[in-house]
Amino acid sequence: MDDSARIFGHDTQRSEVSRLLASKWSKFLFVGGEGIGKKKIATHFCKEINCLRNFSLECDCPSCKRFKTGLPRGLLMLDFEDKNHRKAKVVRSLLEESKEGRPGLKRPCIILDNVDFFTPKVEDLLLKDLEDRHDLVYFLVAKSSDRLRKTIISRAMEIKFFALEPSLFFEIIWNLPETAGQSEELVNIMANLSGGSISRFQRYMAGNLIELYRLVEQSWGKPKKITEILVNLRKTGNSREARIKAHFLLDFIQAKLFDMTL
Ligand SMILES: [Zn+2]
Repeated sequence: MDDSARIFGHDTQRSEVSRLLASKWSKFLFVGGEGIGKKKIATHFCKEINCLRNFSLECDCPSCKRFKTGLPRGLLMLDFEDKNHRKAKVVRSLLEESKEGRPGLKRPCIILDNVDFFTPKVEDLLLKDLEDRHDLVYFLVAKSSDRLRKTIISRAMEIKFFALEPSLFFEIIWNLPETAGQSEELVNIMANLSGGSISRFQRYMAGNLIELYRLVEQSWGKPKKITEILVNLRKTGNSREARIKAHFLLDFIQAKLFDMTL
């Protein structure tokens, strides 16, 4: 885990989760906006409850060490934004796998990200699992609980996360590898457009969008030019890169229209 893992925010939520975990509660639903650290906090708790000593961020016990090199065995993760992960078959095999007493962690965990994208079939599977099993710690992560089946919500403890304080947001982003050696101007532009989402900020920084930014900035107020940019983007197809650019443009336009900081 990198150094940015040291800054979390969300103190109230974290102490609530700590308290519940200590009382052996094992089903959580983390709800809140994109990129504010929900999944990072879930991963952090998986590490903490599996620590073999008195947990600290510097701990180098065999269990904590495993978290340093990505996901250790015993921690399962699915991201439902990924279409392949939405298949009931994939979820079933993951849940089966977790039953085989995977070696590695003393308290096996499962993180299910973007559960807003659950299909009904997957909801059925998971609901059964949530009812029957007590050996796994579940972290369901969602932007909103509106689309989730009520029976799933009722089986998990919902923890609501709110946007990060701007000062904390900036402290975090300046500690990210993406900002190393970058100009303050660029970082501020991308930060303003990412709407307080760390992950969106990281995508924008990695996406090399400064040229696109300068182009739309110059073209603002010239509808023909803006249309041209959009048409050209459409021509590039439906790649991940094109989608990031489209999101970026939408954020740009929204910021301009509603006179947000830019
Ligand atoms: Zn440890």
